[in-house]
Amino acid sequence: MEASISPSRGLIYCFANQKGGVGKTTTTVNLAAYLAASGRRVLLVDADSQANATSSLGIDKQREEPSLYDVLLSETGADADVAARDAIVKIDRPIFGGNLDLLPSSVELAGAEVELAAEAQGSREYRLKAALTPFREKYDYILVDCPPSLGLLTLNALSAADAVIIPLQCEYLALEGLMQLTNTISLVLKGLNRSLRILGIAMTMYDSRTNLSAQVVQEVKGHFPREVFNTLVPRSVRLSEAPSYGLTILEYDPNSRGAAAYAALADEVVARSARLQGSVVQ
Ligand code: ATP
Ligand code: MG
Repeated sequence: MEASISPSRGLIYCFANQKGGVGKTTTTVNLAAYLAASGRRVLLVDADSQANATSSLGIDKQREEPSLYDVLLSETGADADVAARDAIVKIDRPIFGGNLDLLPSSVELAGAEVELAAEAQGSREYRLKAALTPFREKYDYILVDCPPSLGLLTLNALSAADAVIIPLQCEYLALEGLMQLTNTISLVLKGLNRSLRILGIAMTMYDSRTNLSAQVVQEVKGHFPREVFNTLVPRSVRLSEAPSYGLTILEYDPNSRGAAAYAALADEVVARSARLQGSVVQ
């Protein structure tokens, strides 16, 4: 992707879809890689107890170091950013030029949803926001990978975010799940986060050999013409292999079709971010 001017204030995007296995983690990790490699300072936040984004970057989810769990369940909101600073890991690989950091998940995060539910409504939804807001100065992009549910972790991510990126698998009934998600986003807009936008819908696992993929894209574009990104992420075995080596597609096979798609999608995210930046009150 091309280098261009970084946003003046870090943007927080969450990658959400309550449906499992649609490409949330693959999209978050690979966009983070292309953004970092092109010189943007990126923090990837793994908000899923499956810790797939954490292991996709080669970090052991069983390691006994602070993680997002400690950040969300630190005693008061006031020291959440201190807990975050302790938990952040630098992904120190030359290709990222020191620009890629990870706030990792851990197996403990599975309990966070239940523990947060016991906390007072009105504060429990804003833990992540309290932790991440101070880091807008340090990063150009903060990308939050959400779990496949609309529980408190996803609500925390939607409350903290400037915008949501929706990965949507090109499959039958994709639109129905999308409607459920957009209803939730409307509720969040009314209650928790009045400035939440949809940055875009990323169509994933596009199979050019079948009519179904093309039909699904057509149908989703019919309802969300401005939201759907132009880049269609193809179904690619290389994309699914990379995480098992703890590598992003940029490192594992930069000449693959999947890599080209995520490079192009990163360009679109940067372009839309510039527009969003122009409209976000500083
Ligand atoms: P979950 O809801 O469980 O968190 P997810 O939405 O994060 O899942 P991923 O983990 O990114 O989805 O992808 C689900 C599976 O599909 C993984 O095995 C991943 O490697 C594979 N996958 C994702 N995108 C592609 C693609 N474009 N081509 C082929 N396989 C893909
Ligand atoms: Mg995932």
